[in-house]
Amino acid sequence: MTLLKSAGMDFVASHSEGYCVWDLDGREFLDLDLRAGVYNLGHRNPRVTEALQGALRSSDMGFALFPGEHQTALAEKLAASSGLDNVLFAPSGTEANDLAIQVARRHTGNRRILSCASGYHGAAGLASAAGNPEFSQNFNSDYPDEFATFPAGDLDSLRDELRRGDVAAVLIEPACNAAGYPTVPEGFWTEVQSTCAEHGALLIMDEIVTGLGRSGHVWGFQKVGVTPDIAVTAKGLSGGIYPIAAVLMSAESAQWLHQDFAGYAGTFAGGELACVVGSAAFDLSTSRETLENVHAAADHFADGLEAIRSRHSALKDIRQFGILFGLEFDLDGAGFAMVQALFRNGVLAFPAAHANRVVNLKPGLLVDEAFCSDALQRVEDAVKTL
Ligand code: PMP
Repeated sequence: MTLLKSAGMDFVASHSEGYCVWDLDGREFLDLDLRAGVYNLGHRNPRVTEALQGALRSSDMGFALFPGEHQTALAEKLAASSGLDNVLFAPSGTEANDLAIQVARRHTGNRRILSCASGYHGAAGLASAAGNPEFSQNFNSDYPDEFATFPAGDLDSLRDELRRGDVAAVLIEPACNAAGYPTVPEGFWTEVQSTCAEHGALLIMDEIVTGLGRSGHVWGFQKVGVTPDIAVTAKGLSGGIYPIAAVLMSAESAQWLHQDFAGYAGTFAGGELACVVGSAAFDLSTSRETLENVHAAADHFADGLEAIRSRHSALKDIRQFGILFGLEFDLDGAGFAMVQALFRNGVLAFPAAHANRVVNLKPGLLVDEAFCSDALQRVEDAVKTL
């Protein structure tokens, strides 16, 4: 927080509604970060808050041993939408990625996990050791023998690692959030899938940022045209109201559940109230109307950003994955400078953690034209001051 203050971003959130947040002095900000997708549906979305209020009359956290009505309903929706028929819940994205890694290790008997060098998959444990090892090294908690990385989009490095034959899984996002959504070469995804299969490794897709409507499809893997063995979802499933995450598994990778049903038993995993909220958030995030809005708003943003780029040469490239945008500038450190400039123009955004020339913009799934136009104007005003 001291760091933000010294960077001129003295901000304490007071209240929030829709896609706006106000600070203690009453200053309004457009939220173009949305906590990386937690607030996909806006802050305090009434459909989600009403679902929780209703559920409080009859539900609590549920039982550990027996499934609950709401847990079962949400699991069925997640399975039907993904084709991955087995679902386990977790309280956070970190824990869900940890579980996905454990499932892959149990299924394959291998230990090594491959992931993108600029990726981020969680704040602790196995999940933090995957992707860029900066976080785990920071806490002296990395596992260099068990986790390896490959540069984003680099199939040759990925193949070399897989050829060793000791890989349990490739853990990867359909578009890497921490790298600012770089594009991958044509045919990348089908190659990743077939190379994993050839070498007996599972493909785990981290859909924590890219899933639940963000790509214009329900899941990002549907946009890139592959079906993983395991998919992980979190953030947006909470509706911004109640933490919940889930691991969706193919029948094969979930075989172990038939031998060992209590093999994973997180106390706060998949409670009934969380699942009521998760169901409401899932329904709204993935409805036909919402996905249509995502396509329209994504086009609006893409056209507007392209026009800004044509007027300002500092803005070098615009990466897009559905309604996720990475703006790349021609200067080291421009990502954070742009975050500061956006802040001065009343916009909250975040730099790409592992690409210092890139700022990420993540407009919500339900934004309207007026919001898009206002946000684009502020983005241009910020670019002008860089
Ligand atoms: N994977 C990705 C791609 C993420 O962006 C994050 C959170 N920023 C996580 C995993 C970890 O999720 P959580 O913070 O809920 O533990």
